[in-house]
Amino acid sequence: MNKRDYYEVLGVEKTASDAEIKSAFRRLAKKYHPDVCKEADAEEKFKEAQEAYAVLSDPQKRKQYDQFGHQAFQNGGQGGFSGGFDFSDFDFSDIFGDIFGSGFGFNFGGSKRQNRASRGRDRVIGMKLSFEEAVYGTTKTIKIDLMDTCDECHGKGGKGEVTCDKCHGSGTIEEQQRTILGAFITKSTCPKCHGNGIIYKEVCSNCRGKGSIRKNKEYEVKIPAGVDTGNQLRMSGKGEAGTNGGPNGDIYIEFSVEPHQIFKRDEDDIYLELPISITDAVLGCKKEVPTLYGNINLVIPAGSQNGDKHRLKGKGVENTSSRRKGDMYITLKVIIPNKLNREQKKLFESLTKTDLDNNIEFKKYNDFLKKNR
Ligand SMILES: [Zn+2]
Ligand SMILES: [Zn+2]
Repeated sequence: MNKRDYYEVLGVEKTASDAEIKSAFRRLAKKYHPDVCKEADAEEKFKEAQEAYAVLSDPQKRKQYDQFGHQAFQNGGQGGFSGGFDFSDFDFSDIFGDIFGSGFGFNFGGSKRQNRASRGRDRVIGMKLSFEEAVYGTTKTIKIDLMDTCDECHGKGGKGEVTCDKCHGSGTIEEQQRTILGAFITKSTCPKCHGNGIIYKEVCSNCRGKGSIRKNKEYEVKIPAGVDTGNQLRMSGKGEAGTNGGPNGDIYIEFSVEPHQIFKRDEDDIYLELPISITDAVLGCKKEVPTLYGNINLVIPAGSQNGDKHRLKGKGVENTSSRRKGDMYITLKVIIPNKLNREQKKLFESLTKTDLDNNIEFKKYNDFLKKNR
Protein backbone atom coordinates (compact mmCIF):
# COMPACT_ATOMS: atom_id res chain seq x y z
CA MET A 1 0.00 0.00 0.00
CA ASN A 2 1.29 3.41 -0.92
CA LYS A 3 1.04 5.78 2.00
CA ARG A 4 1.07 9.50 1.32
CA ASP A 5 3.75 11.62 2.91
CA TYR A 6 2.46 13.14 6.16
CA TYR A 7 3.58 16.64 5.21
CA GLU A 8 1.79 16.29 1.90
CA VAL A 9 -1.36 15.09 3.69
CA LEU A 10 -1.43 18.21 5.85
CA GLY A 11 -0.24 20.44 3.00
CA VAL A 12 2.66 21.94 4.92
CA GLU A 13 6.39 22.34 4.33
CA LYS A 14 8.89 19.97 5.96
CA THR A 15 10.07 22.94 8.00
CA ALA A 16 6.56 23.84 9.24
CA SER A 17 6.28 25.03 12.84
CA ASP A 18 4.07 23.30 15.42
CA ALA A 19 1.51 26.09 15.08
CA GLU A 20 1.39 25.68 11.28
CA ILE A 21 0.90 21.93 11.65
CA LYS A 22 -1.87 22.40 14.18
CA SER A 23 -3.74 24.94 12.08
CA ALA A 24 -3.37 22.82 8.93
CA PHE A 25 -4.87 19.87 10.75
CA ARG A 26 -7.71 21.98 12.19
CA ARG A 27 -8.57 23.12 8.68
CA LEU A 28 -8.66 19.54 7.35
CA ALA A 29 -10.51 18.18 10.37
CA LYS A 30 -13.23 20.80 9.91
CA LYS A 31 -13.47 20.01 6.23
CA TYR A 32 -13.48 16.21 6.40
CA HIS A 33 -15.05 15.32 9.70
CA PRO A 34 -17.45 12.46 8.85
CA ASP A 35 -20.25 14.10 10.85
CA VAL A 36 -19.92 17.25 8.77
CA CYS A 37 -18.63 16.25 5.34
CA LYS A 38 -20.78 14.14 3.04
CA GLU A 39 -18.10 13.33 0.46
CA ALA A 40 -17.63 9.62 -0.09
CA ASP A 41 -14.01 9.45 1.01
CA ALA A 42 -14.36 11.96 3.88
CA GLU A 43 -13.73 9.41 6.59
CA GLU A 44 -10.63 8.10 4.88
CA LYS A 45 -9.26 11.60 4.41
CA PHE A 46 -10.11 12.49 7.98
CA LYS A 47 -8.27 9.45 9.29
CA GLU A 48 -5.28 10.16 7.09
CA ALA A 49 -5.07 13.70 8.48
CA GLN A 50 -5.51 12.41 12.03
CA GLU A 51 -2.62 10.00 11.61
CA ALA A 52 -0.37 12.63 10.04
CA TYR A 53 -1.15 15.06 12.84
CA ALA A 54 -0.57 12.43 15.56
CA VAL A 55 2.96 11.95 14.27
CA LEU A 56 3.97 15.47 13.25
CA SER A 57 2.62 17.12 16.43
CA ASP A 58 4.83 14.92 18.59
CA PRO A 59 8.44 16.17 18.42
CA GLN A 60 9.96 12.73 18.99
CA LYS A 61 7.73 10.93 16.49
CA ARG A 62 8.25 13.72 13.97
CA LYS A 63 12.00 13.25 14.29
CA GLN A 64 11.65 9.48 13.78
CA TYR A 65 9.42 10.08 10.77
CA ASP A 66 11.87 12.58 9.23
CA GLN A 67 14.62 10.03 9.62
CA PHE A 68 12.92 6.77 8.61
CA GLY A 69 9.62 7.73 6.94
CA HIS A 70 6.60 5.48 7.38
CA GLN A 71 8.90 2.60 8.20
CA ALA A 72 9.50 4.16 11.62
CA PHE A 73 6.01 3.13 12.77
CA GLN A 74 5.53 -0.18 11.06
CA ASN A 75 5.02 -3.11 13.36
CA GLY A 76 7.85 -5.56 13.41
CA GLY A 77 10.23 -3.45 11.36
CA GLN A 78 13.94 -4.15 11.66
CA GLY A 79 13.58 -7.83 12.45
CA GLY A 80 11.02 -7.35 15.18
CA PHE A 81 13.03 -4.94 17.24
CA SER A 82 11.22 -1.69 16.67
CA GLY A 83 7.91 -0.94 18.30
CA GLY A 84 4.71 -0.18 16.46
CA PHE A 85 2.73 2.97 17.01
CA ASP A 86 -0.94 2.73 17.83
CA PHE A 87 -2.79 5.80 16.54
CA SER A 88 -5.97 4.91 18.39
CA ASP A 89 -4.34 5.94 21.66
CA PHE A 90 -3.72 9.49 20.51
CA ASP A 91 -5.88 12.03 22.29
CA PHE A 92 -7.40 14.46 19.79
CA SER A 93 -9.93 15.82 22.25
CA ASP A 94 -8.12 19.08 22.99
CA ILE A 95 -8.05 20.12 19.36
CA PHE A 96 -11.63 19.01 18.65
CA GLY A 97 -12.88 20.75 21.75
CA ASP A 98 -12.04 24.12 20.32
CA ILE A 99 -13.06 23.35 16.75
CA PHE A 100 -16.58 22.15 17.44
CA GLY A 101 -17.24 23.17 20.98
CA SER A 102 -18.70 20.60 23.26
CA GLY A 103 -22.15 19.42 24.24
CA PHE A 104 -23.76 19.39 20.80
CA GLY A 105 -23.85 15.69 20.44
CA PHE A 106 -20.60 15.25 18.58
CA ASN A 107 -18.89 12.22 19.84
CA PHE A 108 -15.30 12.16 18.70
CA GLY A 109 -12.51 9.72 19.31
CA GLY A 110 -10.32 10.43 22.26
CA SER A 111 -11.07 10.77 25.92
CA LYS A 112 -14.71 11.76 25.59
CA ARG A 113 -15.87 8.27 24.72
CA GLN A 114 -15.79 6.37 27.95
CA ASN A 115 -16.78 3.06 26.43
CA ARG A 116 -14.20 2.90 23.70
CA ALA A 117 -12.02 -0.16 23.65
CA SER A 118 -8.48 0.75 24.49
CA ARG A 119 -5.32 -1.20 24.19
CA GLY A 120 -3.54 -2.26 27.38
CA ARG A 121 -0.31 -0.62 28.45
CA ASP A 122 3.05 -1.74 27.07
CA ARG A 123 5.70 -2.74 29.56
CA VAL A 124 9.45 -2.48 29.19
CA ILE A 125 11.73 -4.69 31.25
CA GLY A 126 15.49 -4.65 31.31
CA MET A 127 17.52 -7.85 30.95
CA LYS A 128 21.25 -8.38 31.57
CA LEU A 129 23.00 -10.84 29.30
CA SER A 130 26.53 -12.15 29.38
CA PHE A 131 28.63 -11.54 26.26
CA GLU A 132 28.24 -15.18 25.20
CA GLU A 133 24.45 -15.27 25.79
CA ALA A 134 24.06 -12.24 23.52
CA VAL A 135 26.31 -13.69 20.81
CA TYR A 136 24.96 -17.25 20.73
CA GLY A 137 21.36 -16.64 21.87
CA THR A 138 19.77 -18.24 24.91
CA THR A 139 16.50 -18.95 26.70
CA LYS A 140 15.57 -16.98 29.82
CA THR A 141 12.64 -16.87 32.18
CA ILE A 142 11.15 -13.49 32.99
CA LYS A 143 8.83 -12.65 35.84
CA ILE A 144 6.57 -9.66 35.58
CA ASP A 145 3.88 -8.14 37.77
CA LEU A 146 1.10 -6.76 35.59
CA MET A 147 -2.62 -6.09 35.23
CA ASP A 148 -4.02 -9.11 33.40
CA THR A 149 -7.54 -10.07 32.30
CA CYS A 150 -9.65 -11.34 35.20
CA ASP A 151 -10.27 -15.09 34.77
CA GLU A 152 -13.56 -15.07 36.71
CA CYS A 153 -15.39 -12.57 34.49
CA HIS A 154 -13.15 -12.72 31.40
CA GLY A 155 -12.53 -9.00 31.59
CA LYS A 156 -16.19 -8.00 31.70
CA GLY A 157 -16.17 -6.86 35.32
CA GLY A 158 -19.50 -8.54 36.14
CA LYS A 159 -21.68 -11.61 35.88
CA GLY A 160 -25.16 -12.06 34.44
CA GLU A 161 -25.57 -9.76 31.44
CA VAL A 162 -28.84 -7.84 31.05
CA THR A 163 -29.85 -4.98 28.73
CA CYS A 164 -29.38 -1.57 30.32
CA ASP A 165 -32.78 -0.29 31.45
CA LYS A 166 -31.79 3.38 31.30
CA CYS A 167 -30.84 3.53 27.60
CA HIS A 168 -32.63 0.33 26.52
CA GLY A 169 -29.41 -1.05 25.15
CA SER A 170 -28.48 1.81 22.81
CA GLY A 171 -25.65 3.10 25.03
CA THR A 172 -26.68 6.73 24.45
CA ILE A 173 -29.26 9.01 25.94
CA GLU A 174 -30.97 11.72 23.89
CA GLU A 175 -32.30 14.84 25.53
CA GLN A 176 -34.00 17.87 24.07
CA GLN A 177 -32.61 21.18 25.22
CA ARG A 178 -34.28 24.52 24.60
CA THR A 179 -32.01 27.49 24.13
CA ILE A 180 -32.49 30.97 22.69
CA LEU A 181 -31.24 29.59 19.38
CA GLY A 182 -33.89 26.88 19.27
CA ALA A 183 -34.21 23.29 20.37
CA PHE A 184 -31.24 20.97 20.24
CA ILE A 185 -31.10 17.25 20.63
CA THR A 186 -28.09 16.38 22.69
CA LYS A 187 -26.74 12.88 22.79
CA SER A 188 -24.68 11.69 25.69
CA THR A 189 -23.16 8.44 26.80
CA CYS A 190 -25.44 6.50 29.11
CA PRO A 191 -24.05 6.97 32.63
CA LYS A 192 -25.41 3.65 33.87
CA CYS A 193 -23.80 1.31 31.35
CA HIS A 194 -21.06 3.71 30.17
CA GLY A 195 -22.25 3.27 26.61
CA ASN A 196 -22.02 -0.52 26.54
CA GLY A 197 -25.79 -1.04 26.40
CA ILE A 198 -25.53 -3.89 28.87
CA ILE A 199 -25.19 -4.04 32.62
CA TYR A 200 -24.39 -6.90 34.95
CA LYS A 201 -26.56 -8.27 37.74
CA GLU A 202 -23.56 -8.86 39.88
CA VAL A 203 -20.19 -7.08 40.15
CA CYS A 204 -17.28 -9.52 39.81
CA SER A 205 -15.89 -10.03 43.29
CA ASN A 206 -12.52 -11.19 42.03
CA CYS A 207 -11.57 -7.95 40.23
CA ARG A 208 -14.18 -5.69 41.94
CA GLY A 209 -15.65 -4.83 38.55
CA LYS A 210 -12.45 -3.65 36.94
CA GLY A 211 -12.12 -6.61 34.55
CA SER A 212 -8.40 -6.86 35.19
CA ILE A 213 -6.38 -8.05 38.12
CA ARG A 214 -2.75 -7.87 39.22
CA LYS A 215 -0.90 -11.08 38.41
CA ASN A 216 2.62 -12.34 38.62
CA LYS A 217 3.32 -13.79 35.19
CA GLU A 218 6.22 -15.94 34.15
CA TYR A 219 7.34 -16.32 30.54
CA GLU A 220 10.07 -18.31 28.93
CA VAL A 221 11.75 -16.12 26.32
CA LYS A 222 13.89 -17.33 23.45
CA ILE A 223 16.58 -14.73 22.80
CA PRO A 224 17.98 -14.87 19.27
CA ALA A 225 21.72 -14.91 18.59
CA GLY A 226 23.27 -11.51 17.93
CA VAL A 227 21.36 -9.14 20.20
CA ASP A 228 23.25 -6.19 21.63
CA THR A 229 22.92 -3.53 24.31
CA GLY A 230 19.91 -1.31 23.63
CA ASN A 231 18.11 -3.82 21.37
CA GLN A 232 14.51 -4.52 22.28
CA LEU A 233 12.64 -7.76 21.81
CA ARG A 234 8.88 -7.41 21.54
CA MET A 235 6.52 -9.98 23.02
CA SER A 236 3.33 -9.12 21.21
CA GLY A 237 0.12 -9.15 23.28
CA LYS A 238 1.86 -10.13 26.53
CA GLY A 239 1.53 -6.68 28.14
CA GLU A 240 -1.27 -5.35 30.32
CA ALA A 241 -4.92 -6.19 29.64
CA GLY A 242 -6.93 -3.77 27.48
CA THR A 243 -10.23 -2.27 28.61
CA ASN A 244 -13.70 -2.75 27.08
CA GLY A 245 -12.48 -5.58 24.89
CA GLY A 246 -9.35 -3.75 23.69
CA PRO A 247 -6.25 -5.84 22.95
CA ASN A 248 -3.42 -6.41 25.39
CA GLY A 249 -0.33 -4.25 25.25
CA ASP A 250 3.12 -5.67 24.51
CA ILE A 251 6.15 -6.49 26.62
CA TYR A 252 9.46 -5.09 25.41
CA ILE A 253 12.64 -6.67 26.74
CA GLU A 254 15.57 -4.29 26.57
CA PHE A 255 19.02 -5.89 26.70
CA SER A 256 22.20 -4.76 28.33
CA VAL A 257 25.19 -6.92 27.49
CA GLU A 258 28.18 -7.35 29.79
CA PRO A 259 31.67 -6.76 28.37
CA HIS A 260 33.97 -9.70 27.53
CA GLN A 261 37.37 -10.30 29.11
CA ILE A 262 39.33 -9.91 25.87
CA PHE A 263 36.90 -9.52 22.95
CA LYS A 264 35.44 -6.15 22.04
CA ARG A 265 32.30 -5.94 19.98
CA ASP A 266 31.18 -3.23 17.58
CA GLU A 267 27.80 -4.23 16.10
CA ASP A 268 28.54 -7.48 14.24
CA ASP A 269 32.33 -7.22 14.28
CA ILE A 270 34.67 -8.54 16.96
CA TYR A 271 38.00 -6.93 17.84
CA LEU A 272 40.88 -8.60 19.61
CA GLU A 273 44.24 -7.17 20.64
CA LEU A 274 46.82 -9.95 20.40
CA PRO A 275 49.94 -9.52 22.55
CA ILE A 276 53.12 -10.91 20.93
CA SER A 277 56.77 -10.75 21.92
CA ILE A 278 59.40 -8.77 20.00
CA THR A 279 61.06 -11.98 18.79
CA ASP A 280 57.72 -13.37 17.53
CA ALA A 281 57.16 -10.12 15.62
CA VAL A 282 60.67 -10.08 14.19
CA LEU A 283 60.99 -13.77 13.33
CA GLY A 284 57.34 -14.57 12.67
CA CYS A 285 55.37 -17.36 14.35
CA LYS A 286 52.12 -19.29 14.61
CA LYS A 287 49.78 -18.18 17.43
CA GLU A 288 46.75 -19.92 18.87
CA VAL A 289 43.94 -17.36 18.85
CA PRO A 290 40.44 -17.74 20.35
CA THR A 291 37.44 -16.83 18.17
CA LEU A 292 33.69 -17.00 18.84
CA TYR A 293 33.72 -20.33 17.00
CA GLY A 294 36.72 -22.07 18.54
CA ASN A 295 40.49 -21.54 18.53
CA ILE A 296 42.45 -21.09 15.30
CA ASN A 297 46.16 -20.92 14.43
CA LEU A 298 47.08 -17.49 13.12
CA VAL A 299 50.25 -17.16 11.02
CA ILE A 300 52.18 -14.03 11.95
CA PRO A 301 54.70 -13.24 9.19
CA ALA A 302 58.31 -12.30 10.00
CA GLY A 303 58.80 -8.54 10.29
CA SER A 304 55.29 -7.85 11.66
CA GLN A 305 54.84 -4.40 13.13
CA ASN A 306 53.03 -3.23 16.21
CA GLY A 307 49.42 -2.39 15.18
CA ASP A 308 49.35 -4.71 12.14
CA LYS A 309 45.80 -5.99 11.53
CA HIS A 310 44.53 -9.41 10.50
CA ARG A 311 40.97 -9.94 9.35
CA LEU A 312 39.10 -13.21 9.85
CA LYS A 313 36.11 -13.13 7.57
CA GLY A 314 32.84 -14.44 9.00
CA LYS A 315 34.19 -14.90 12.52
CA GLY A 316 32.08 -12.06 13.91
CA VAL A 317 28.59 -12.03 15.42
CA GLU A 318 25.52 -13.29 13.55
CA ASN A 319 23.26 -10.37 12.59
CA THR A 320 19.76 -10.60 14.15
CA SER A 321 17.95 -9.77 10.92
CA SER A 322 20.19 -10.75 7.99
CA ARG A 323 21.63 -13.78 9.87
CA ARG A 324 24.95 -12.99 8.20
CA LYS A 325 28.08 -13.06 10.34
CA GLY A 326 30.36 -10.08 10.82
CA ASP A 327 34.18 -10.27 10.79
CA MET A 328 36.88 -10.52 13.41
CA TYR A 329 39.80 -8.09 13.47
CA ILE A 330 43.02 -8.97 15.25
CA THR A 331 45.46 -6.17 16.04
CA LEU A 332 49.03 -7.10 16.97
CA LYS A 333 50.38 -5.53 20.12
CA VAL A 334 54.14 -6.01 20.35
CA ILE A 335 55.11 -6.12 24.00
CA ILE A 336 58.40 -4.37 24.79
CA PRO A 337 59.94 -6.04 27.85
CA ASN A 338 60.49 -3.63 30.74
CA LYS A 339 62.63 -5.97 32.87
CA LEU A 340 65.58 -7.93 31.48
CA ASN A 341 67.93 -10.41 33.15
CA ARG A 342 71.67 -10.15 32.56
CA GLU A 343 71.70 -12.60 29.68
CA GLN A 344 68.79 -10.90 27.87
CA LYS A 345 70.46 -7.53 28.37
CA LYS A 346 73.60 -8.81 26.69
CA LEU A 347 71.60 -10.12 23.76
CA PHE A 348 69.86 -6.79 23.24
CA GLU A 349 73.17 -4.94 23.50
CA SER A 350 74.68 -7.09 20.77
CA LEU A 351 71.53 -6.36 18.69
CA THR A 352 72.15 -2.60 18.82
CA LYS A 353 75.41 -3.15 16.98
CA THR A 354 73.40 -4.55 14.05
CA ASP A 355 73.29 -2.16 11.15
CA LEU A 356 69.78 -0.71 10.80
CA ASP A 357 70.89 2.05 8.46
CA ASN A 358 69.35 0.25 5.49
CA ASN A 359 65.90 0.45 7.03
CA ILE A 360 63.98 3.12 5.12
CA GLU A 361 62.54 4.79 8.24
CA PHE A 362 65.91 5.12 9.94
CA LYS A 363 67.62 6.22 6.71
CA LYS A 364 65.12 9.05 6.08
CA TYR A 365 65.49 10.30 9.63
CA ASN A 366 69.30 10.09 9.78
CA ASP A 367 69.74 11.81 6.40
CA PHE A 368 67.68 14.76 7.57
CA LEU A 369 69.52 14.92 10.87
CA LYS A 370 72.95 15.00 9.18
CA LYS A 371 71.87 17.70 6.68
CA ASN A 372 70.77 20.00 9.50
CA ARG A 373 73.77 19.67 11.73
ZN1 LIG B 1 -27.28 2.31 29.37
ZN1 LIG C 1 -13.48 -10.11 37.30
